[in-house]
Amino acid sequence: MPKTSRLNKEWHLANPMPKKATLEQRIAWHAEHVQNCACREMPPSIAAEIRKRKSESGKRNP
Ligand SMILES: [Zn+2]
Repeated sequence: MPKTSRLNKEWHLANPMPKKATLEQRIAWHAEHVQNCACREMPPSIAAEIRKRKSESGKRNP
């Protein structure tokens, strides 16, 4: 099983992670990445931030 089979090389070339990425940038990057490539899992800290933001945006309907 080659580990590179799930790497979307084209997407990575088009979407490099900024070297000094802010939390916002990392969240945006991983949100896009998970939809376009499966070369690695989203870090738990990023997944938790996205969940937190989703629950905050859904506060209108408690
Ligand atoms: Zn990837």
